[in-house]
Amino acid sequence: EPGNLAGVRHIILVLSGKGGVGKSTISTELALALRHQGKKVGILDVDLCGPSIPHMLHAQGKAVHQCDSGWVPVFVDQEQSISLMSVGFLLENPDEAVVWRGPKKHALIKQFVSDVAWGELDYLVVDTPPGTSDEHMATVEALRPYKPLGALAVSIGDVRRELTFCKKTGLQVIGVIENMSGFACPHCAVSLGRWPLSHVVSPFLAFVVTGSVPLDPQLTRSLEEGRDFIQEFPKSTAYSALT
Ligand code: ADP
Repeated sequence: EPGNLAGVRHIILVLSGKGGVGKSTISTELALALRHQGKKVGILDVDLCGPSIPHMLHAQGKAVHQCDSGWVPVFVDQEQSISLMSVGFLLENPDEAVVWRGPKKHALIKQFVSDVAWGELDYLVVDTPPGTSDEHMATVEALRPYKPLGALAVSIGDVRRELTFCKKTGLQVIGVIENMSGFACPHCAVSLGRWPLSHVVSPFLAFVVTGSVPLDPQLTRSLEEGRDFIQEFPKSTAYSALT
């Protein structure tokens, strides 16, 4: 039943061909940037083997409750404008899912799609595992019947793998974020050594996200401490790249 996604206006899948390129970072900052613009945002963290968003949003260790209409996501802010559902909230040991087999992962992904009581949301940001594997197919298949999906590809440099996956699965690419492109020097406030962005854009939602985010030590620190980087640095390149 599509009941729990009925109040969700847009779904954005965040994809990356490889791990460690900043997919969870971009998912987190995208949600914060949208919140900064007054939107209601949900984050679905299906990165089964490395759910890092609870840490980045300072929500680790929070409990997910059951209600009649499913799991109640965790609100990460006082205004209750960002809600988060992460596999990290359900695992007693963070390394547990690493040894799960495909069918168990697929069942959990399906349940995540159908059983979370999101309520009304402008955007649902879905942080997927790294790669373009079976788990991605399962996520796309589970979500597709309910809403048109937009994919945001995050990469360092080459983005062909992500785009090939989108083409194969018929996912609309709403933008490409080239992460850690150049270096945002905290001392001289300029971005150094940025390489040209090889982006692909297609109009899909009310906005098109395409940009490059430099390697920024202040961003790393914000993520480590679970602080709102967008709130602190509204003039940052990350904010302008994501809005
Ligand atoms: P992924 O989800 O692709 O595995 P993460 O989002 O967890 O990658 O990012 C990996 C690490 O790189 C994290 O420690 C994060 O803080 C850092 N990071 C990501 N993007 C940036 C950036 N633009 N500037 C500085 N640090 C970054």
